[in-house]
Amino acid sequence: MDEDPGAFDPNIPEEGPSAPPPGWLDDIHGYQGHKGGPDDPLYPPPPAYNPQPELNRNTLVPNVRVPTISEDEARRALLQFVETKWTYSAKPARNMTFKELKPIIVYRYRLETYTETRTSAWHFEPYNGQMVDGPQYGMCPQPWDVPVTLPQRYTDMVEKVRVPHTSFIKLCHKCNGIGRTRCGCCFGRGMKRCPFCHGNGRSRNKRCTSCHGRGRKRCSSCLGKGFKTCTICHGSQNLLHFILLTVTWKHNVDDFIPDRQPDFPDKKFEKVTGDPFFIDENVLVYPIQGFPDQEICDVSSKLINEHLNRFRATSRILQQRQTIELVPLTHALYSYKGKDQSFFVYGTENKVFTSKYPSACSIS
Ligand SMILES: [Zn+2]
Ligand SMILES: [Zn+2]
Ligand SMILES: [Zn+2]
Repeated sequence: MDEDPGAFDPNIPEEGPSAPPPGWLDDIHGYQGHKGGPDDPLYPPPPAYNPQPELNRNTLVPNVRVPTISEDEARRALLQFVETKWTYSAKPARNMTFKELKPIIVYRYRLETYTETRTSAWHFEPYNGQMVDGPQYGMCPQPWDVPVTLPQRYTDMVEKVRVPHTSFIKLCHKCNGIGRTRCGCCFGRGMKRCPFCHGNGRSRNKRCTSCHGRGRKRCSSCLGKGFKTCTICHGSQNLLHFILLTVTWKHNVDDFIPDRQPDFPDKKFEKVTGDPFFIDENVLVYPIQGFPDQEICDVSSKLINEHLNRFRATSRILQQRQTIELVPLTHALYSYKGKDQSFFVYGTENKVFTSKYPSACSIS
């Protein structure tokens, strides 16, 4: 039996690591601390890049008019609502008698902060003669000095930019610059022991039909070559390394509605719009003062502080906007067949919420 191994080329290395090992790449000023993993360092912007809030500054809000709806509008809204519920009859809505339409003042406060965050990591690609923008072309810009095009305000977006002048070429760390790695299935021999006769060439006292008595079979993983093209450099032997900067723009929104209507579920407000009678937009906005609803003043001050603390440590604040919306809410009290009941009309869309609705076929 032939024990001679297949063609074994000692110059073809075993597979190296898929990622460059620690210390493989030199640190670049301003981009230290790369581990090559997903936990890229986060760069807080230099103080000059973030707006500084002025002390003791406040914002005043003009007076507002509370919207009211008529009985016709309330009835129309209810009829529309009843149409969407197949178990409800339109009859009570048509024939009910309104007793009172109580407008309720609901303010929604919203704070939006548009931020930019920058992180970076080493990246590489097979080198095939493409342009190498290395340090010979100049100093690489610091993370917050790399120019990018701002997206439209308040749009979430991620952009990846190659940091200028950080590129260089290095032998592939996986194949050591050979372009090939030894096949791990056959250990570079190109042949494997026949699994049917366990290398004997015979099974059940007959010549093995699988290997034709040779005891060995061609390695199916490398097709008998004993090596594979390097999966990292794709055979090009060299890699182009560069720093990739990830710039993330994010629209951060916080909403607040004081919870004062126990019979009305506040979650309903999330689906409707109101009248944004006060919009204040600037790089930084300041707490609202002197507004008749003190809870809105307090939440404005609280959220503005929260956003400043939360975002300034890691991101650049590009723009802020605070809005007070008057969200229409009317409690409609009515009687039908001698019974007193009620429903709510809410939002500029005049949506209806009711926990109880009379049945049309009650015996009278
Ligand atoms: Zn065999
Ligand atoms: Zn093989
Ligand atoms: Zn390689």
